[in-house]
Amino acid sequence: MTAEEVIRAGARSAHNYNPLPVVLGHGDGAWVTDIDGTRHLDMLAGYSALNFGHGHPALVAAAQSQLSALTLTSRAFIHDRFADFCASLGDLCGKEQVLPMNTGAEAVETAIKVSRKWGYEVKGIPADSAEIVVARGNFHGRTTTIVGFSDDDGAREGFGPFSPGFTAVPYGDLAALEAAITPRTAAVLIEPIQGEGGVIIPPEGYLRGVREACTRENVLFVADEIQSGLGRTGRTFACEHEDVVPDLYVLGKALGGGIVPVSAVVGNEDVLGVIKPGQHGSTFGGNPLACAVATEVVRLLATGEFQQRARELGAVLDQQLTSLVGDGVLAHRTRGLWAGVDIDPSIGSGREICESLLDHRVLAKDTHGSTIRLAPPIVISEEDLVWGLDQLGAVLRR
Ligand code: PLP
Repeated sequence: MTAEEVIRAGARSAHNYNPLPVVLGHGDGAWVTDIDGTRHLDMLAGYSALNFGHGHPALVAAAQSQLSALTLTSRAFIHDRFADFCASLGDLCGKEQVLPMNTGAEAVETAIKVSRKWGYEVKGIPADSAEIVVARGNFHGRTTTIVGFSDDDGAREGFGPFSPGFTAVPYGDLAALEAAITPRTAAVLIEPIQGEGGVIIPPEGYLRGVREACTRENVLFVADEIQSGLGRTGRTFACEHEDVVPDLYVLGKALGGGIVPVSAVVGNEDVLGVIKPGQHGSTFGGNPLACAVATEVVRLLATGEFQQRARELGAVLDQQLTSLVGDGVLAHRTRGLWAGVDIDPSIGSGREICESLLDHRVLAKDTHGSTIRLAPPIVISEEDLVWGLDQLGAVLRR
């Protein structure tokens, strides 16, 4: 089929996405090739699910060897990759227990359930009245509970009624967050950097302040590191930029190595231990294939090489974007190899910029309005990164 035929055939899909008109057939590192043989630089990396690039040899090898051994058991039985996965991810996080799931939204739902149960059983919140404080501008996934506390109209409208028990406060405003905590608050759930919001970095001291407030008020600090975690920001976790350790890490995306969906909630026994057999689960969560790939992901991260590379390349990204300020870029926020770039709206919407970038063989994605997000695979070479940013410069100067 030609690319056009493939795109037309896609009309049979529900219209829940509006993809750029490119049909990809192959990926290698930071590059993808469309079915006409044109190579494109992937500057989105599956919203950070591809931190290690397309087809990382160690991850593909882990998947391939597991494929011929055992792929699915369900958690009704124990398989031989499970303990290793939990131990290695727990060690990476400095936590005692791991609760594996599949997608990010499921992990967030899991963290909400754990927080509420902890609130009732450990903190002593009266039944069915637990509250969770969240931030405005959040993105935690697409389930009905989660979109219920989003303030993105497109995500919410038409999907109510929504689950009660969430209080939203402005992101980065510690005083507002502290004021929202009541004796019924079980948890504060925030992204240490808001990814979909446009790579919004909170003011210095915010995460430390959240940690202190949660400790003081006996409230769980739940960090959604699904997009920010696992090397993207130049640290294993974005919370580390403020030397902060949350009570629960919520992880996903890159944990699956760009191969399979793997997510997890990671915490200590005094929190995750509230979940007993039969109270939560997933047929696919923690399956042997997922565990084999994710254990290899953890091994790659444990070397620290990816975090260091994200820091070094992040400096290049920051420098290049700074040179575009006043030249089509209004402002940018960079943390590691991750940037939100506000483009002058007179040049075009984020979508239009991404369409022009596609013409220049660069794949990127808008977030809101004229903001685009850049998150190339951490394996990208410096030369390719600079080339990709040169293409952005060319699009802006057009
Ligand atoms: N949390 C954050 C911070 C995210 O960025 C995302 C996805 O973009 C999610 C949760 C949802 O993950 P998934 O799409 O795997 O359900």
